[in-house]
Amino acid sequence: MSDGSSKSMLPRYIDPRRFCQQGVVLRGFAATGEMPRLTEHNVIVESVQAELAFAIDEQRERSVKGKLAVKTQLQCQRCLELMPVDLDCDVSLAIVRDEEGSRNLPGIYDPWIVDGEETDLYALIEEEVLLNLPFVVYHEDPCGESVGNPDAFAEEGETNKQNPFQVLKQLKDKTKI
Ligand SMILES: [Zn+2]
Repeated sequence: MSDGSSKSMLPRYIDPRRFCQQGVVLRGFAATGEMPRLTEHNVIVESVQAELAFAIDEQRERSVKGKLAVKTQLQCQRCLELMPVDLDCDVSLAIVRDEEGSRNLPGIYDPWIVDGEETDLYALIEEEVLLNLPFVVYHEDPCGESVGNPDAFAEEGETNKQNPFQVLKQLKDKTKI
């Protein structure tokens, strides 16, 4: 069963109903390279850390509750430079078979429609991130004050042991064109 080292990678394909029955708690990181929908929406995701508790609640609903901590780079709508935006997403879902099933859910839950057994956990994470994206983002300071110093990222990258910063390196290379 999951012993929950916070450095571990989240599994991609899971059987969420079985997890609910077993009371599994998933903790770990998602591989951000496998989230094409976020890329389509111009969301650059540096890291996703999740804690998701699967359970069967008192009303016999199969529930998934937890949090996602997501570090992204989004485009400032004024100067069009990328800026770091951290998102904290609260997750409160109940697993249902179809739209029909989602109508009877208690209001505290959003439906997670899973018609078969296995499903793609990363697709769910993408969905949750998209739902939690700010509509527009702007630099808080006047634009330009917080940009134009790309070396700040490099320093941070060297002192940080986690490899999401490899993404930042690629990002830097891309923006240099
Ligand atoms: Zn700006």
